[in-house]
Formats: sequence, structure tokens, C-alpha cells
Amino acid sequence: MAVSLAKEHYKVTIMGSGPAGLTAAIYAARANLSPVLFEGPQPGGQLTITTDVENYPGFAEGIMGPDLIDATRKQAQRFGTEFHYNLIAKIDDSSLPIKVTLDDPDATTFTTDTLIIASGASARLLGIPGESEYMGRGVSACATCDGFFFGDREIAIVGGGDTAMEEAIYLTRFASKVSVLHRREELRASKIMQERAMKNEKIEFVWNTVVEECLGDEKELKTLKLKNTKTGEITERKFDGLFIAIGHIPNTSVVKDIIDTDEHGYIITAADSTKTSRPAIFAAGDVQDTVFKQAITAAGTGCMSAIEAEHYLEALHG
Ligand code: NDP
Repeated sequence: MAVSLAKEHYKVTIMGSGPAGLTAAIYAARANLSPVLFEGPQPGGQLTITTDVENYPGFAEGIMGPDLIDATRKQAQRFGTEFHYNLIAKIDDSSLPIKVTLDDPDATTFTTDTLIIASGASARLLGIPGESEYMGRGVSACATCDGFFFGDREIAIVGGGDTAMEEAIYLTRFASKVSVLHRREELRASKIMQERAMKNEKIEFVWNTVVEECLGDEKELKTLKLKNTKTGEITERKFDGLFIAIGHIPNTSVVKDIIDTDEHGYIITAADSTKTSRPAIFAAGDVQDTVFKQAITAAGTGCMSAIEAEHYLEALHG
């Protein structure tokens, strides 16, 4: 069945429903541009799988990630954003307006004057033997989703950034011990997160170590094959779980063939702008942010993208 869109043509289409996409929607809706927003495969984005957000301005006591997203979504709805859960399958801007095709069985199409890509980024995986085999059976890329299953167990987490620290701390609520496996002997995480993790008695740091293979009994993960990056020594160590927290990959599969991206796949935007290499397409949030990657900077670029789309429309229609 075709997707029931309110219109056949929109002025602003937003792809993604994290802080960037939702903020773009608030600004575009308040500018009377009646935006349509496609939520993407993980509605609400990465904040929906995080716990406390302590650094988003305006919440003195912090706020839970999902609550922040819910409130922002309601704000975008209040001003008339049209929301859909369908995925965008194809974008054709070879002639304007842009033609968008959805991934429903009828391949519903519509046109849009502008497109804001705020599709975020997804967890990077290690790409080692056994990782995909034991995914969901001991291996996970989301502590808040799966930590609960590891009550009183010994688990490992790979990574040395803020995400790894945050998730290691979170996992100590359930696990008897959490070993942070990091490929160097210095963490990338912010000082405050490092200190918190190091103070936690359940967290052990295993330096200069990479995971080479996930081994199990075909039903679940049992052991990790580890390599010391300094000595080359290979060891095997028993773990009930492995959490992967080694950063993210930008979600650009639908646009990477039409838009300029950098060598890591991030959409390239003009300096101090959300303009991309295509005139009617703007990009906001983690999909174009190689530096900051914070909820507040995503919201900031979301705001910029809506204002720049509005300026583009003014020039187009007068
Ligand atoms: P980062 O890119 O900051 O860190 C990734 C970590 O994974 C690094 O320590 C890196 O090692 C390691 N790594 C990468 N690839 C591999 C690999 N193949 N094998 C082993 N280790 C690997 O990603 P994060 O997701 O931690 O953070 C992303 C952004 O989000 C940051 O800007 C961070 O500040 C922010 N953030 C902020 C939070 C907060 O403020 N509360 C919470 C979570 C994230 P190496 O250091 O050697 O490169």
C-alpha cells in the first residue's frame, strides 16, 4: 500500500529524527514551510539508546536521552511537522525539484524543493571473525539495550572514547566486572569521563590490547582472543559479553553517490554552513560532523540547515 503523504510536493524534506533532524523540523515548521520528516531506521537516533544526558543546556539535573528526543519531537509536531516512519530509498536531484522515492512496496514518490540530510551515524564494528556470528549472543554494540542481560557476569568493552567510558560505567550496574580493552595506553575520552571510569571499582583497564576473534560454542560467546599491540602476544580470556564502543560510521548510503563525502564517508559541508555539493541539499548533525558529534552541536546545525533551506527557497520563489 502506498504511503499516505499529505502532499505530492513539499518545500522541505528532512531525513532523520535525532536532535539535528528534529531541530531542523522545528525551525522549518515555525517558518511556515510545512516540513515532512522521515524518521529513519532508528527513530530518535543515538540519544534513544543513551542514558543520562548531562551536558545539554537547560537541564540542570540532566535529562534521559529518550525524554529529550520525545520532548523535541513534540515541539516539532506542535508547529505542524508531518512525520513518517518510512525509509527514503532514492534521491534524484538531476533535475529540480528533487524527486524522492520511499522504500515501501509501491515505491511511493514525491518531490521536494529542498532536502535536509540528518541521518546521523551508526555504531562502527570491529570486523573480526566471530563478531557477527555472536552478535546478540554475547556481542553487542549497545550497552543500554543489552546491559540488562549481563547480570553478575564478566564483560569486556572495546574502545577508549567517551562512549566506551559511559557504557563501561553503565554496565557496572549489571556486571560483576567490566574490562575496558583499549588499543593504546592513553584514553581518548574527556577527563571527567576518564576519572569517573577509573574511580569505579568494578572497571579494569587492559591497555595496548585488541580483540582478534570472538570464540564460543556456536550458541553464545565464551572467550576473546586478544593481542597485545606492543608485544604481539596472543592470549585467550573468558568473557560472558563483549560490547563494542569504537565510534560511528555516517549514514550516507542513500546520498553518497550524488553528494561529496570525505574519505571516512562524512558529508562535506561548506565552511560555517550546512550547504553540500548539491544546491538544494543541506546536511546537519553527525552525518557531516567529524569533530564535535554532540547532541547540542547536532541541534545547532539542524537549526542552521532549516534557515539555509529557507534562504534557498526565498531566492528560488522570491
Ligand atoms: P571516539 O571516536 O571518540 O572514540 C573511539 C574509540 O574507539 C577510540 O578510543 C579509538 O581508539 C577506539 N577505536 C576505534 N577503532 C577501533 C578499532 N578498530 N579497534 C579498537 N579500538 C578502536 O568515539 P566515541 O563514540 O567514544 O565518541 C564520539 C563522540 O561523541 C566524541 O566527540 C565524544 O566526545 C562524544 N560523546 C560524548 C559523550 C558525553 O559527553 N557524555 C558521551 C559519548 C560520546 P584510539 O583512541 O586509539 O583512536
